[in-house]
Amino acid sequence: MSIRIISDPAVVQAKAREWKAAGETIGIVPTMGFLHDGHRSLITRAVEQNDHVIVSVFVNPIQFGPNEDLDKYPRDLDADAAMCEAEGADIVFHPEPSDMYGEYFSTHVEVDDITSVLCGASRPGHFRGVTTVCNKLFNISKADRAYFGEKDAQQLAVIRRMVRDLNMDLEIVGCPIVREEDGLARSSRNKYLNPEERKAAVILSKSLNKGKALLDSGERSAQALIDTITAELKTEPMSDIEYVSVVDSITLKDVEGDITAPVLVAIAVRIGSTRLIDNFSYEV
Ligand code: AMP
Repeated sequence: MSIRIISDPAVVQAKAREWKAAGETIGIVPTMGFLHDGHRSLITRAVEQNDHVIVSVFVNPIQFGPNEDLDKYPRDLDADAAMCEAEGADIVFHPEPSDMYGEYFSTHVEVDDITSVLCGASRPGHFRGVTTVCNKLFNISKADRAYFGEKDAQQLAVIRRMVRDLNMDLEIVGCPIVREEDGLARSSRNKYLNPEERKAAVILSKSLNKGKALLDSGERSAQALIDTITAELKTEPMSDIEYVSVVDSITLKDVEGDITAPVLVAIAVRIGSTRLIDNFSYEV
């Protein structure tokens, strides 16, 4: 079956209604497009687990701050559609902003607390935009399951929180981070890196690996972990650290003292003008 690219939310919703009436399951993979192997892994998983898969390709304006990269965000719908088709998805949902946020749009969904730390601290309103669009995507797609990457660990935690808090009737499936051969997490934003910056960017995963090794060696002090990762990041002159954090996996609160429960170790680092994130989860 060849892939359908649909921009009208009502058309996707009508198709989803048909599928549900036939007792068939639906998976949704929300993306901003310019798809790479990280996205591919989500789509593959969704195709394995559902009768039908909708991949949304939507650069969601309300999750970008005024000085962020909305206008220059990379796009390639033809390549995206080809990947979705090759992986066996049914629909690429590619709305215009006006299809999603019509005249008088005034409803938002906001998760408190865990959205104001880590990336939320420097990107006010970002997660409100993410949770609002995901709500719309879940309603439009009538999905049984939605697929998110652990690459955006805070986003995944926020979406899980929202689904629990609001009794939303779908399963959130987290998928492991897909990396380049040298360890850099795949990201559409890697396209912004020039060759020199691309080489320097390996410092993110390298520093996290040092941190992981420290934990494996038995160290439990959150501060020692932060210090080790920070020192490694600073060995790369092009790196400009936004945060290095060790937080509780559920509350996303900073761990004080020793690590005694599952943690998320997360970093945000600018290489040149490109802001990159990476993380790992650890259970002691
Ligand atoms: P984006 O298009 O960047 O908004 O990402 C769409 C989805 O793909 C999100 O759930 C991301 O977490 C996920 N994703 C992006 N990069 C990766 C990666 N390298 N590995 C796994 N999932 C990813």
